[in-house]
Amino acid sequence: MRAEPQPNCKSTPKSEVLLYESAVKIYPRQAKGIFARLRVSSMSILLGLYYLVPWLSWNGKPLVLFDLPHRRFHIFALTLVPQDLLLLAFLLLLAALTLFFFTSLAGRLWCGYACPQTVWTESFLWMEQFCEGDRYSRIRLDRAPWGPEKLARKGAKHLLWLGFALLTGLSFVAYFVPARELFPAALHFQLSGWALFWVLFYGFMTWGFAGFMREQVCKYMCPYARFQSAMFDPDTLIIAYDEKRGEPRKTQAKKTGQKAADCVDCSLCVQVCPVGIDIRNGLQYECIACAACVDVCDGVMESVKKPKGLIRYTSSRHDAGGPFRLVRARTIGYGILWLAACAGFLLLALGHSTLRFDVLRDRHTLYRELASGAIENVYTLKVTNDDAVAHRYAISAHFSDGTPLIVEPAELSRAADETGATTITLRTAPRSDSEQPLPSIESVVVGISQIDSPGPSRERNARFLTGGKP
Ligand code: SF4
Ligand code: SF4
Repeated sequence: MRAEPQPNCKSTPKSEVLLYESAVKIYPRQAKGIFARLRVSSMSILLGLYYLVPWLSWNGKPLVLFDLPHRRFHIFALTLVPQDLLLLAFLLLLAALTLFFFTSLAGRLWCGYACPQTVWTESFLWMEQFCEGDRYSRIRLDRAPWGPEKLARKGAKHLLWLGFALLTGLSFVAYFVPARELFPAALHFQLSGWALFWVLFYGFMTWGFAGFMREQVCKYMCPYARFQSAMFDPDTLIIAYDEKRGEPRKTQAKKTGQKAADCVDCSLCVQVCPVGIDIRNGLQYECIACAACVDVCDGVMESVKKPKGLIRYTSSRHDAGGPFRLVRARTIGYGILWLAACAGFLLLALGHSTLRFDVLRDRHTLYRELASGAIENVYTLKVTNDDAVAHRYAISAHFSDGTPLIVEPAELSRAADETGATTITLRTAPRSDSEQPLPSIESVVVGISQIDSPGPSRERNARFLTGGKP
């Protein structure tokens, strides 16, 4: 352990107020410990999912694909179209409520373990460490004049970064263009103009945000970092330094002649901090709750044979000597809302069908009366098969009182993912002059059901014109 000057910590005289201060590069030291392992596991899973999901399929369809040209969104077993706005809205609501619920329960858990900015920044840091070495080596390298070693190390880092950023850009576009078409096209330099634009744009943003801007994104650009304090209360899980146990820290105690408390002033908690703050100065909005300082301080406490937890997960209330309350009115409220959104989404998703259809009466002909006395109307059925395989469907129709109508044709088929229009005729049974005249406008129910295998069926109401003839 050794104290060292912090390249990321500028001291400002108390009387001087800086209205603008340029960013100082932070060289985070790698932390080891239980939370670091948790973070690495969570990030590996999330990165793995991000790069893998575009390659997976479900029932012959992409697992996740936002097919904008065909206006189809494949999300797991669901195929959504713009008309499924309610389901999409529920999905977004569910994502937002999940975030709110976990924030009120566990503070900035999302920021520290799952936010894409954190995940990619950490990945870029791994590559930086691989090429340029640990914190000290990186500081030394940046301060050294340009030479073959600096060129080679920086060049290798940027090559790795660029490769990873391009892969990230390609994988992002693979959520909109099937990966099995996109990647071969990219390898043969045959990407379409817009696909190339988005690959480069997203790759460039990844490179810039994770390689250079890093903590600046969390501090100055992230809207979530701004409004999440509204979800905090004295019981929210935070990471805090135990001032009662740590102060006066070693160097201060030496100066004042007091007995040193538990903090040995090694500054390791500052060195590992990816946002360059000193948690010993109290809770700060920049803290992304990554727990790197918890890990490193626990290591220090272990080596000086003091109890762990000088920096730890706690809550403001617990830190002030109160109870630790995970379950409270706010979390119950968010929990209920979250469960309601889950139930709403599940209900909508279960009622969602791979068969859609609309029925439109032909406006060019009112009705036709046949020699047998039967009356017929013509309709257009717009039928969409959202399934991954072709299907055959039976069409039926009846008046609202249950009287059946003759349908021609009585069957139709659709290929996988096909939408098509079919003209059908609905006809009454032959009628004689002695029968009661039909009302001039009748209500009919047109039904369609999958017949080649057990599947969905749907019904729609339409008008049937008779002219009031018997
Ligand atoms: S809080 Fe822990 S890690 Fe930070 S300076 Fe004190 S002893 Fe070192
Ligand atoms: S203060 Fe600790 S928990 Fe907060 S960002 Fe820095 S290292 Fe992570």
